[in-house]
Amino acid sequence: MTDPKRLNMQELVSFLADNAGNWISNQRDLHRHYAEALPDTTTAALRGFFRDETLDRARIRRVPVIENPPFYREFEESGQSIPLDFSVWAAITFGDVILVSDDQVPWPPSHSVVFHEMVHLVQYDELGVFEFARSYVTPFVQNRFNYMSIPLESDAFDLQGRFEASAGEPFSAEAEVRAHIGKPGLPYSGRRGNRQLAK
Ligand SMILES: [Zn+2]
Repeated sequence: MTDPKRLNMQELVSFLADNAGNWISNQRDLHRHYAEALPDTTTAALRGFFRDETLDRARIRRVPVIENPPFYREFEESGQSIPLDFSVWAAITFGDVILVSDDQVPWPPSHSVVFHEMVHLVQYDELGVFEFARSYVTPFVQNRFNYMSIPLESDAFDLQGRFEASAGEPFSAEAEVRAHIGKPGLPYSGRRGNRQLAK
């Protein structure tokens, strides 16, 4: 049992990144089996923003609520607040599987919500699950658990805003994500540098 209170920042990053990576990987395998292709109307609305093969590869599943990961128990038992409360999230993406919370949004989810999750799907494709987890957790911990300090999220929100303003006129969000993620020096360009974050 790990007591998160006793970890320094680098140890906490490693603890969270490793646990999150395993959780994402397990959740992806678990839900993939029950998940479906994107609804036709969603695919039509997102065509051009993402490649057809990426839209075809995505899977989506409606769940009652996004459940928090088992390793949060270690925060609760040590009297610490949990890093992010997923139970109030509308949606989450595990690799190529998007979960949508019935508790938070009506079905079918808006195109905008799915667009945001598709950005994460492309990020996962570039980084892999474990590097995604590390790239997500590192700036989050280093910026005192400020969610908007996570480039993987701020990029997704920026692109989502442009999608909403686009009136259906496509721009290649997927190409932008792939180009941006490869730029050296960014906090999440882990696969091509920034190895000092890895442990
Ligand atoms: Zn997001």
